[in-house]
Amino acid sequence: MPKIVAARVIVTCPGRNFVTLKIECDDGTTGLGDATLNGRELAVAAYLTEHVVPCLIGRDAHRIEDIWQYLYKGAYWRRGPVTMTAIAAVDMALWDIKGKLAGLAVYQLLGGACREGAIVYGHANGTTIEETIEAAREYQRQGYRAIRLQCGVPGMASTYGVSKDKDFYEPADSDLPTENVWSTAKYLRVVPELFAAAREALGWDVHLLHDIHHRLTPIEAGRLGKDLEPYRPFWLEDATPAENQAAFRLIRQHTTAPLAVGEVFNSIWDAKTLIEEQLIDYIRATVVHAGGITHLRRIAALADLYQVRTGCHGATDLSPVSMAAALHFDLSVPNFGIQEYMRHTPETDAVFPHAYTFADGMMHPGDAPGLGVDIDEALAAGYEYKRAFLPVNRLEDGTLWSW
Ligand SMILES: [Mg+2]
Repeated sequence: MPKIVAARVIVTCPGRNFVTLKIECDDGTTGLGDATLNGRELAVAAYLTEHVVPCLIGRDAHRIEDIWQYLYKGAYWRRGPVTMTAIAAVDMALWDIKGKLAGLAVYQLLGGACREGAIVYGHANGTTIEETIEAAREYQRQGYRAIRLQCGVPGMASTYGVSKDKDFYEPADSDLPTENVWSTAKYLRVVPELFAAAREALGWDVHLLHDIHHRLTPIEAGRLGKDLEPYRPFWLEDATPAENQAAFRLIRQHTTAPLAVGEVFNSIWDAKTLIEEQLIDYIRATVVHAGGITHLRRIAALADLYQVRTGCHGATDLSPVSMAAALHFDLSVPNFGIQEYMRHTPETDAVFPHAYTFADGMMHPGDAPGLGVDIDEALAAGYEYKRAFLPVNRLEDGTLWSW
């Protein structure tokens, strides 16, 4: 058996913070897992170092399911983003090791490819509708078949999803949380205008997506869905906070716009009602925040029974290790829908050399054994951790709102 003899956490900040778990076996085989929880990075690093790594030493690295159960049930305190991100990191690293030992890419171990590649969507944004459409045209030129549209809201200084940098978007931008101001009424006026202009300019052969980022009430979300129906959105994401899964019943009563939710979910229990009642069309749980490949496959299997497809979160707050793990998952599950893809900076790509590729709007994890991602530890060591928070959001009267 490949015995685990060491495991350690590597924190690096090549433009943004990433936490990586590296597990080593007695034969020298190593595996990588992403443990990045945006804005709370060191909590997961400490959880791993203090409470998980000591329990891994001496275990058989092949026993992925047993180790998953040990860390989940054995902690007594179940679920939560910190715990489930830590478990995910271990799970990813063990799949990486199993693949390397078998000489196979992880998607082969998961049953092999169900498709030629994973269709991905990119993020087009701009401070105006015109800028956003120009950005979308650029994505079309690069071969993207699906594009998320976010634009600035007239009368508001900033909004979610609109970046200062043309090529990269990083909302975790400050040593203490930035405070943004939000107006639902202003927002609800501009999004239908954006979609009308986008269909006019971009045509109908491209999938158009939009992220509401948890900012509407269910009835407001129903209204926006209705307003966007003529423009056939691929999905509306995170229409309302989903702690109350039943809230989506109200949205469903009012619109046929497809709904996606779940990037902040940690476990299958966060999505159970949403899936069983077919209140959503896409489940966006990620490999890194929802317990790794092992648990995400369980969520996908439940979703498949109800014709709910996957649409994993894939922003740059996930390291290339997660991106690779997501692509192995995407290629192998029958009910894959789409994958979010935000390009990492050249600095991040240099720290994490990887086998995955993009061509013609699709991505492929590559056929390197394991996950197909490495870490250049010497390079990583040159980028010191820098505290960075996501913003908070307030209504115009000062009431704290969902960011
Ligand atoms: Mg989102």
